Amino acid sequence: MQKIPVTRDRKGSHTITLQAGEVVKIESIKDKEFIIHTQDDKYYFSASLEAFEEWLYEEGFRLLDQMNLVNMNHVSDYDPKKGSVALGHGLNTIKKHASAAWIHGDHILKVMSLLEKMRKLDEGILPDEGDDAIFETILAQEEDHRFARSYAMIKALYDKKKAELQLEESELRYKSLFEHNPDPICSLNMQGSVTSVNPAMIEVTQYDEADLLNHTLDRIIAPEHTERWRQHIQETLEGARPQYELTLIRKDGRPVEFSVLNFPIFVNRKIAGIYMIGQDISERKHSEELLIRSEKLSIVGQMAAGVAHEIRNPLTSLKGFVQLMQTKVSGYNNYFDIMLEELERINFIVSEFLVIAKPQSVRFTPRDPLQILQSTIMLLNSQAIIHNVDLITAADPELPHIHCDENQIKQVFINILNNAIESMPDGGNIHIELRNSGEDEIVIRFIDQGSGIPEDRLPRLGEPFYTTKEKGTGLGLMVTFKIIENHGGRMKIMSEVGRGTTVEIRLPVWK
Ligand code: ADP
Ligand code: MG
Repeated sequence: MQKIPVTRDRKGSHTITLQAGEVVKIESIKDKEFIIHTQDDKYYFSASLEAFEEWLYEEGFRLLDQMNLVNMNHVSDYDPKKGSVALGHGLNTIKKHASAAWIHGDHILKVMSLLEKMRKLDEGILPDEGDDAIFETILAQEEDHRFARSYAMIKALYDKKKAELQLEESELRYKSLFEHNPDPICSLNMQGSVTSVNPAMIEVTQYDEADLLNHTLDRIIAPEHTERWRQHIQETLEGARPQYELTLIRKDGRPVEFSVLNFPIFVNRKIAGIYMIGQDISERKHSEELLIRSEKLSIVGQMAAGVAHEIRNPLTSLKGFVQLMQTKVSGYNNYFDIMLEELERINFIVSEFLVIAKPQSVRFTPRDPLQILQSTIMLLNSQAIIHNVDLITAADPELPHIHCDENQIKQVFINILNNAIESMPDGGNIHIELRNSGEDEIVIRFIDQGSGIPEDRLPRLGEPFYTTKEKGTGLGLMVTFKIIENHGGRMKIMSEVGRGTTVEIRLPVWK
């Protein structure tokens, strides 16, 4: 907006400048001498108005009579009888008036309505079709060329503001799509450096915007994916829109899996960069993995059902005959012992299998979980003492009962406690917590101080035959998972190498 140099007094000692928009009226008192009125004050101005004429006109100033050049933006009312206009829109401003004798009343009214439309634009309100039509009609009907010129000027200004507002609005829409998109989006330039990221991208990766901007994505992409990612970038720069899966490494080191779509950014029909839109598919991946695991379990279960009985019967005869031979043949006692031990081991594995294969003798009854735990601990106590391990139990008072097969739950506790004891070759404490979680569930935690399990191995726990022990079967956890699942519960294993492992079981309470 233009500025007008004015002075406080007529002598013009001290010059200040006013925004043209603040001026409501310029009153001519002599040749080249004017009083400049703002809403609340007045100043002096001496110069020829001709120098200002063009832009005064553009700002909305109109000559209303010989004395008064009025800023039409401030006209709030027109009284055709008195032939004067009221200046000022605000309630608290001192009312000023100006004579409007010079100009035709219709013209003032038209200008007022046009400027009103303009003010709406200034407030960010886009006009509807009807508003545009007013301009056209007024312009088309005006015969006086001076008035027509002034309408045309207001219309030109109006059109310019409208176009700006429309552009701003469409930019805002586009920006909102980017800013509020729940999926992470980033743009890259031709060199592959990041030029923009949306808040979802920042949230997902946990990096700050500054960490990401002007860098390539190399360092946040899983190393095994970088090469393939670069190829996709190259393809996109050649016009393709590849969709692919990508693992990003968050700032805290955790991987997140994405399904990513690349597409080129076109500016003037030329590729100027790349947009990457991702969708977090970690959850989906996780449930896919669970599905695969339960699929594996059910196959093992079916196999176990068929095979276990077939093995057990001949096993019983073998064991019987070995024991018989042991009494008849002398000198091979060692071998017989080993044979019996190995047969026992086969029998054990087969029994574990049988737990998964639809067990016949399962009986669900309401039981006190603490009591089951205590009797299990009694079974395991001697083993714990040998390994220099203390079993420390902490239980909430008045725990609700759980609906369960007591033997199966014992089996679960034994499997977990065995693993815990075996993970602490130098002894230590195993804390067992029994808690009422308040959500119709009880929570049982087994916290050991053992060797821990590396993070990349965690997903393998519960897989049949997954073991890291020389004499392990890799069946204990599988059976455990299966039993908990059959009881409508959940089991989670958290571990840190060198610190220990926590196995957490949640079981629904009996109601
Ligand atoms: P097994 O005990 O026969 O090896 P499991 O299914 O009981 O089979 O356990 C599978 C594997 O999980 C173990 O070999 C071990 O590597 C790991 N594991 C289970 N529990 C623990 C634990 N508390 N501490 C450390 N590693 C464990
Ligand atoms: Mg085990």
